[in-house]
Amino acid sequence: MALIVQKYGGTSVGSVERIENVADKVAKFRDNGDDIVVVVSAMSGETNRLTEMAHGIMDTPTPREMDVLLSTGEQVTMALLSMALEKRGYGARSFTGGQVKILTCSTHTKARIQEIDGSRIQAQLEQGNVVVVAGFQGMDEHNNITTLGRGGSDTTAVALAAALEADECQIYTDVKGVYTTDPRGVEDARLLASITFEEMLGLASLGAKVLQIRAVEFAGKYKVPLRVLSTFDDG
Ligand code: ADP
Ligand code: ASP
Ligand code: MG
Repeated sequence: MALIVQKYGGTSVGSVERIENVADKVAKFRDNGDDIVVVVSAMSGETNRLTEMAHGIMDTPTPREMDVLLSTGEQVTMALLSMALEKRGYGARSFTGGQVKILTCSTHTKARIQEIDGSRIQAQLEQGNVVVVAGFQGMDEHNNITTLGRGGSDTTAVALAAALEADECQIYTDVKGVYTTDPRGVEDARLLASITFEEMLGLASLGAKVLQIRAVEFAGKYKVPLRVLSTFDDG
């Protein structure tokens, strides 16, 4: 039995049907006896939609309120996934970043994670529940909602895996893994069987958004076993 942190990105949870597909995948791991913490992104397009609405009101939206706004995207997904799991007969509880106690600095819209209190998650796992956590968000020392910058759900997942001493962190996305270059657009991009943290850091800093750069830094620092996988492969 393993403790696995799984993260599902925007395309993977882009519709109710896709959220149901994620619930089926998580259910298989539970049937296998694994403890699962799921980190979810907002449904694809939602963070952009919210951002556009804010810019419709002000050219430079107030950073604190931007975080209150953007954090709602992930909150929708976490509730829907928990419902889909409950429908299948699996206990599930969803939590926002603040509810977990993902403590960040106060730099709104690009906050850094400082500390994670894993006790609430552990208690839920001990009760046999799947824990679903909203990615991309935390709370500062004054209880203000913060967000971690675009692509920040990757960092939530890796940081949670480190804090919980998980056996593995799996990043589920819309490509089969990490390639030599962006497989969308570059025909001869090659799927890599493995990559060192240093090499991945290089790819991420060149703009490979498959993993947020801070997630790679975290994984290297805390030696988190990290795998990038396709949500849409069977199994
Ligand atoms: P998610 O919504 O699941 O977080 P992202 O869109 O943030 O997904 O990241 C996945 C995308 O990263 C892929 O669709 C791919 O186009 C892009 N990408 C860029 N460089 C790479 C690379 N070297 N390997 C894999 N994917 C890459
Ligand atoms: N929803 C956020 C974004 O679109 C965070 C994430 O998906 O990782 O950037
Ligand atoms: Mg991403």
